[in-house]
Amino acid sequence: MKKETKCIQAGYTPANGEPRMIPIIQSTTFKYDTSEDMGKLFDLEAPGYFYTRLQNPTNDFVAAKLAALEGGTAAMLTSSGQAATFYSVFNLASAGDHVISSSTIYGGSYNLFNVTMRRMGIDFTFVDPDCSDEELEAAFKENTKCVFGETIANPALIVFDIERFAKAAHKHGVPLIIDNTFATPINCRPIEWGADIVTHSTTKYLDGHDATVGGAIIDSGNFDWMAHKDKFPGLTEPDESYHGITYAEKFGNGGAFITKATAQLMRDLGAIQSPMNAYFLNLGIESLAVRMQRHCENGLKVAEYLQTNENVAWVFYPGLPGNKYYDRAKKYMPDGTCGVISFGVKGGRKAAEEFMKHLKVAIIATHVADAHTCILHPASSTHRQMTDEELMAAGVAPDLVRLSVGIENVDDIIEDLKQALEKTGA
Ligand SMILES: *Cc1c(COP(=O)(O)O)cnc(C)c1O
Repeated sequence: MKKETKCIQAGYTPANGEPRMIPIIQSTTFKYDTSEDMGKLFDLEAPGYFYTRLQNPTNDFVAAKLAALEGGTAAMLTSSGQAATFYSVFNLASAGDHVISSSTIYGGSYNLFNVTMRRMGIDFTFVDPDCSDEELEAAFKENTKCVFGETIANPALIVFDIERFAKAAHKHGVPLIIDNTFATPINCRPIEWGADIVTHSTTKYLDGHDATVGGAIIDSGNFDWMAHKDKFPGLTEPDESYHGITYAEKFGNGGAFITKATAQLMRDLGAIQSPMNAYFLNLGIESLAVRMQRHCENGLKVAEYLQTNENVAWVFYPGLPGNKYYDRAKKYMPDGTCGVISFGVKGGRKAAEEFMKHLKVAIIATHVADAHTCILHPASSTHRQMTDEELMAAGVAPDLVRLSVGIENVDDIIEDLKQALEKTGA
């Protein structure tokens, strides 16, 4: 199946007389005839459902669709993108271990790594995604357990060189985890470039309609855990909380990572997605291919327009010819990047504030990456307590506006930006 068909048909094949649509199994528990039957499930000796915190059929159908779209062997849904990021790393690294991450990642991921997971005893080294080979090499330590990056960084929009980082990670015997939220599997499939694990905040384009918060983890099945036995004891040595099962032996490279994340992390930490939300997520994924195409078309037209507007100081969009990441974007995302653009309003902070007041189509929101065009001026909202100097130091220019181009008629979006830019007094 091609990706457009997978969006609609993968993951769930109804049998004769069964519902065409993925059913919402809104049930916490599942019934068994004998306790022996249920015992086999608890021991991971037979597949099946017993309690929704661990697994639910609705979630599994949607996860299977995402695995098909990303080209992976197994997947799981989580209650949020944050939970997916946390589980993907914590499934490999524990206290005393070390992780390498790109320095340009989503702010929530950065905080999770640099503050919360450090408190759990895990060490992080943040590397510039465009660092030299020497710098990247120097970041690896004896206790490094994985490398983490984002296909298109939110909000910096820097395109990550997946192939290069995958080679470096594999050379050191560790997997590469890629947060593919902004590109989605429609525009980029990191596994094809060597990534081992893919994560998503499904809250963004995958859901696509501002409806549900959620996350997902997809395993490529390509990483050979047993070949690096000493590095990953959690996968290659018996789990006493599961009667001595060794995940990599029992479930192989294709199933070990997700089975462990489900059996241990979901069991103990419980960030499960509700079946109802999984149903909504699936509705979003069904139209993902057509939506992404429109997001990219609109995004490019808006970026091109902004470049010609005399009240705009600069435009940053990796899909725009001349952008620093254009060539890399073309390599990894030949069909388009995403709908998120950043640009500067001439006249700085004050002019940008004025511009925001006159918008009618673009909605002011901290959210990005869904059907509605949304816009944010960090200097007058999320970062308003900071001075211009502090903003520059944080890499957020005072005139910077982050625009997430939706799938409305692009002429309406451009007209709205045009009339608001005319009133900035530049
Ligand atoms: C939003 C986002 C997250 C966090 O996802 P939530 O669903 O909000 O928890 C992680 N990574 C990226 C790239 C995001 O944009």
